[in-house]
Amino acid sequence: MAKILLVEDNEMNRDMLSRRLARKGHEVLLAVDGQSGMEMVRRHAPDLVLMDMSLPVVDGWEATRRLKGDEATRHIPVIALTAHAMSSDRGKALEAGCDDYDTKPVELPRLLAKIELLIQRAAGRTAAEAAP
Ligand code: MN
Repeated sequence: MAKILLVEDNEMNRDMLSRRLARKGHEVLLAVDGQSGMEMVRRHAPDLVLMDMSLPVVDGWEATRRLKGDEATRHIPVIALTAHAMSSDRGKALEAGCDDYDTKPVELPRLLAKIELLIQRAAGRTAAEAAP
């Protein structure tokens, strides 16, 4: 089980995905724009962030850039979610510092595999840093 922050302004997408993640045993935190998303990351230190890119106030690209530019939050994996399968979007997301990328509508088994991989990788890194 992981603590996952879902940043998504579309209520239907947010409800559906958060329910499905919760059903898989994850603790799901929600934010509806990039600004509150960044605040939630700092306050709750989630294991992973699912970041919609098209968001009000601060968009997902900018929010990710800021999280990855901050020593306190840069280790937290971010998966970008966009509605477009265009490769330019993927490039833009990775450029902003996203660790991975997926398209909506989300294919849950595929997304869960990415989540698990990134959380394991982050945990491995933390353990390596803690080792003497
Ligand atoms: Mn959106």
